Amino acid sequence: MLSKRLHRIMEKEIEYPLAKTYAVGEEGEVVRLCSNESPLGPPPQAMEAIKREIGKVGYYPDPKAKELKLAIGRYLGVGPDQIAVGNGSDEITDLICKAFLDPGDKALIPIPTFSQYELACAVNDIEPNFVKLQNFEWRVEDLMEGFKEAKVAFICRPNNPTGNSISKEDLKELLDVGKLVVVDEAYAEIAGYTIIDLVGKYDNLLVMRTFSKAFGLAGLRIGYAVGRKELVRALERVRAPFSVNTLAQVAAIATLSDGSFLQRVRNVVREGREYLTEKLAELGLRVLPSDANFIMVDVTPLGMDASTLCGYLAERGILIRDLSDFRGAGPSWVRISVGTPSQNKRLIEAVKNLKGGG
Ligand code: PMP
Repeated sequence: MLSKRLHRIMEKEIEYPLAKTYAVGEEGEVVRLCSNESPLGPPPQAMEAIKREIGKVGYYPDPKAKELKLAIGRYLGVGPDQIAVGNGSDEITDLICKAFLDPGDKALIPIPTFSQYELACAVNDIEPNFVKLQNFEWRVEDLMEGFKEAKVAFICRPNNPTGNSISKEDLKELLDVGKLVVVDEAYAEIAGYTIIDLVGKYDNLLVMRTFSKAFGLAGLRIGYAVGRKELVRALERVRAPFSVNTLAQVAAIATLSDGSFLQRVRNVVREGREYLTEKLAELGLRVLPSDANFIMVDVTPLGMDASTLCGYLAERGILIRDLSDFRGAGPSWVRISVGTPSQNKRLIEAVKNLKGGG
């Protein structure tokens, strides 16, 4: 019954990198520091827009998302015809495989990185060409080598889970090859840097963005790609026409209307990240420097592996991400999303208790 392709996927057991479900032991609020969501949640203006427009769900959404593309265009300084929207940037990744790659083509995927690129490749019969980030650092020579036989490169900037980025100069070297380069800027608003200005200079560049992270709309599922209009048109051709729902569109438009919310998110994330980094380092743990709203941490000094630590914290109502099953990470690494000040404190207290044998 299953297609040959799905058979292969099931055999390889490639799955979406969902946060593990644990039996959470403690009463009260579960602290979710496992999926890089925003500590501030959705902006108030987005919630108001949803309430105001809720009656419209009886109609199909605008398949072209005209208003939203105008709003994103103003926000980024690009034309609305340079933007393709999708049901999260997850959908965009899949559309890229469908629109630009043929079965058997290869894709350069530096690892560790966000596993959705690998999954989208598997579903579309694209072969991943993994290049390991030595010491979790970006070495353009290694990437150029891995790019030789690939048709596309998936570059996450800043990278999930390492939190660091390929330099703009090195990225240009990849772009100069002339093949398609996809730059996933899911965390760009938090990092405060972008390569969106290169879209006008390179017609082989696609930048992916999302409203799921800094803008706090993960549950609404809305992301987009920016690039040359021919590329964007191809993406929209392979997308199901109504994949971006009405409430996602109105909430995203409302979100972009208030820049001060983003500034608040950035401040909370920066302070929380500094706090977590400092406290974990005091406990002897190695924390990789991060530009995003998460940190990658080696838990070896705690005398346990990542999955044991994650299980221990889950019993205390705190969820973080075990990176053991992230290709290229290893059994001693976890990823911790930056939460609210009280959530961050709760995590540190729990790790301290563990160290003290509590
Ligand atoms: N890109 C990266 C790098 C991510 O970490 C994530 C979510 N974890 C996504 C994309 C998914 O974004 P969306 O919710 O827009 O599908």
